[in-house]
Amino acid sequence: MIVGVLVQLSNKNIDKIFDYKVSDELKSKIKVGIRVEVPFGYQKLEGFVLEIKGDSSTDIELKEVISIIDSDIVLNDELLELGRNIKDSTLATLISCYQVMLPKALKAHHGTVVNKKFDTYYKINLNYEYKVNNTQQKIIDLFKEKELISRKELLDISLSSLNTLVKNNVLEPVKLEHYRTTYSDKITVKKELTTDQKKVVDEVLANSGFNTFLLHGVTGSGKTEVYMEIIEDSLNNGKTSIVLVPEISLTPQMVERFQNRFGDKIAALHSALSDGEKYDEWRRIARGEASIVIGARSAVFAPLNNIGVIIIDEEHSDSYKQDDSSPRYNAKDIAMLRGKYHNCPVILGSATPTLESFARAEKGVYKLLSLPKRVNGKKLPLVRIVDMNDEIRKGTGHFSRNLITAISSKLEKNEQVILLLNRRGYSSFITCKNCGYTFKCPNCDISLTYHKTSNTLRCHYCGYGTKVYNTCPSCNEKSIADLGVGTEKIEEELKSIFPDKKVLRMDIDTTSRKGMHAKMIKAFKNHEYDILLGTQIVAKGLDFENVTLVGVINADTSLNIPDFRSSENTFSLLSQVAGRSGRSEKSGEVIVQTFNPDHYAIGFTKSHDYIGFYNREMQIRKMLKYPPFYFICYIKISGKDVNYIGKEAAKIKRSLERNLSNTIILGPTPLSVFRVNNIYRYGIILKYKKEDMLYPILEKILDHYKSDSKIRIDTNFNPSHF
Ligand code: ADP
Ligand code: ZN
Repeated sequence: MIVGVLVQLSNKNIDKIFDYKVSDELKSKIKVGIRVEVPFGYQKLEGFVLEIKGDSSTDIELKEVISIIDSDIVLNDELLELGRNIKDSTLATLISCYQVMLPKALKAHHGTVVNKKFDTYYKINLNYEYKVNNTQQKIIDLFKEKELISRKELLDISLSSLNTLVKNNVLEPVKLEHYRTTYSDKITVKKELTTDQKKVVDEVLANSGFNTFLLHGVTGSGKTEVYMEIIEDSLNNGKTSIVLVPEISLTPQMVERFQNRFGDKIAALHSALSDGEKYDEWRRIARGEASIVIGARSAVFAPLNNIGVIIIDEEHSDSYKQDDSSPRYNAKDIAMLRGKYHNCPVILGSATPTLESFARAEKGVYKLLSLPKRVNGKKLPLVRIVDMNDEIRKGTGHFSRNLITAISSKLEKNEQVILLLNRRGYSSFITCKNCGYTFKCPNCDISLTYHKTSNTLRCHYCGYGTKVYNTCPSCNEKSIADLGVGTEKIEEELKSIFPDKKVLRMDIDTTSRKGMHAKMIKAFKNHEYDILLGTQIVAKGLDFENVTLVGVINADTSLNIPDFRSSENTFSLLSQVAGRSGRSEKSGEVIVQTFNPDHYAIGFTKSHDYIGFYNREMQIRKMLKYPPFYFICYIKISGKDVNYIGKEAAKIKRSLERNLSNTIILGPTPLSVFRVNNIYRYGIILKYKKEDMLYPILEKILDHYKSDSKIRIDTNFNPSHF
């Protein structure tokens, strides 16, 4: 028997299937999709069996498969095909496309090995011929009730009796796998759906084959409740479901809601799990022990059979696109491929859908569903815009008088406040007032951010850190000043304005420790804090009934990012964060501070007018030839030798120009941060509607440079940002 094996080594040069012989001893266990160990050069590598070629009489000297790593199939037929699809559409290596689907524990690892955990149980041999004493009989009696009894339970009676019974073949040990994750039983009574919700559910259930739905529902309109109803229907039909949520809204709050309704039918995949826990969840899913998978982007690859529905919540979130490593796939595309394979609906939900999705719904490619009102009948919160240009003239700091007054009055009523500032750290850069020297990262072209808590200057790109100087290294004057503002500084100011109130700061710096995020959310919900201050982490999916004011310290941080989606992202972020206010009985209010009060993204947030924003933004996208009117492919060319990659980037551009006739080619231009970690980066942007030559020419270029270690070329189709 000969098998085709793809080895786990992500190198463009060896990304192909190699043939190996299989010994007679292993033959019976070989299946497509299992992991094997094979010799490769002088090393032993792990790989996936992708083909079985049957017996071959050729005498070519093939090496032999060394061993089978685990007998279960890790890549079934659907996933195997999906991997080939991802490779074709992203131009990544095939091995990276399979690795991205699997939990870390199943990838070739050079470090720690994640073991399965087992518990020991015992079963009884009914034909035993041993004369038992009283204590031993007590143990044996337990088996009248149960077939298997845990070692722990039997030890409570007597260790020596247990040992004797085992030694004399009365009891036989059985190893059962022990999962590190646990779920409690379901407890919820389900909610009676509103007429609007019912309409949406009925529409989906009436179109049970493959269809993509776009559920446009304002914040608090009961989308999650709709998802659960559809999932329940799928469950009742013996089918499974996938729910994708952005990582940061995969909060314990969200998981708890699903668990309350579906108990241990769910498996939750999120970054707070250890590698072992992730592996356990993955196997529970693969074995059909969990039928509802809820997780972030990569959960779209959950090894479920018989999928009945795939839901993508907050579909506008950029977290569904894997932008920073290969394969640069979009979970929405994968969801649709799987939806087609299983012939089931795919539902995209959001209060602020991406322009791409809404345009497809307008064209009838997706079916549009809408929930225009909040479930509790409450109006969306009143949004006030504060022009910070006026405030600065009056000498106010980072807080306008309006915002201070509003915070005070809410806190007086014992209500809670959420404040958003999308920049972490204390101040964004440190400079010398005497000579203008600024502290920059030695590895990257970016200024260092001051972090007061640790009293360090840190690079947000490469992680470089250094101590803070009092004197300027350039002119030796003691005139160092900090400019710009981050969450740490705002926290400090809040504490001085409201000395007797409790402020909770939530950003990557305070939530990176395992479990902190969950703890903070719980503490805020229990009203142990009055003000929750944070980066966009606070904008997503949180449901606190006592929050009646949301303040945005500076709406311009996201508006000023040089990206064609910056208006869309700002509108979406502001609408989402506004949706955190007044979610229950008390009505809510939102204050947005900005230096661009006339910007349409801010204006349409004030009027809660998604359609208005959509129409306006579509005109601009059309004019500037951006998605959804054009597709984009972003080519990143990077390397240490700036001259070399500059020259090669120009060559690549010329080659593209020669071969593409229906494509707009922009660049090469240095990325906005040209050097990161001492690697220089150039970008070329391709805009096209239909270009048959695109993939062939890109493949040729990638192939040409694949053995050149001085240059790296990455293609990113429809990037979420540049
Ligand atoms: P969304 O996902 O659209 O933001 P949710 O599903 O979280 O909305 O619903 C908002 C709130 O309304 C939640 O607290 C939820 O429990 C409640 N809710 C949703 N649907 C109903 C319903 N039919 N009856 C009563 N309460 C509901
Ligand atoms: Zn750096």
